[in-house]
Amino acid sequence: MTGTRVCLELSLRYDHGLGDLAPYFEALGQGRAMARRCTACGHVWFPPHAVCPEDAQACEWLELDGTGTVVSATQTRSRLPFTETEQDYIFALVSMDGADNAAFGRLAANAGNALPGLRVHLVAGDGETGHPAQMAVFERLEEET
Ligand SMILES: [Zn+2]
Repeated sequence: MTGTRVCLELSLRYDHGLGDLAPYFEALGQGRAMARRCTACGHVWFPPHAVCPEDAQACEWLELDGTGTVVSATQTRSRLPFTETEQDYIFALVSMDGADNAAFGRLAANAGNALPGLRVHLVAGDGETGHPAQMAVFERLEEET
């Protein structure tokens, strides 16, 4: 089929419910780490799961202290989903103290040159993100020596 083509621009707006994981997303916005602990095997998940991925059993909420250790990190220039501006970011996998999995998040500027083993803590998201999951932001932890 041939013919004249037109350019259409579409825009969609969703009212996106946070569901059973709402406490996790709400806490991220405050720099707090809400995790889930399996009532059967005791594994702790941050980010949380609705049910335990090991045994499909129920989990209960608990709050972690928000500290963790960088497992891996990468620096790149990109545009976060649902945002308009491309900029430099450091993304990292962080093993939270007290959790059995690792969380994906962004490192704040003070964590530049992040290497595995860097101690970090969760901070309140910077509000420039388009989705609550992007509020997982970590800063370098200034530990007392
Ligand atoms: Zn379990």
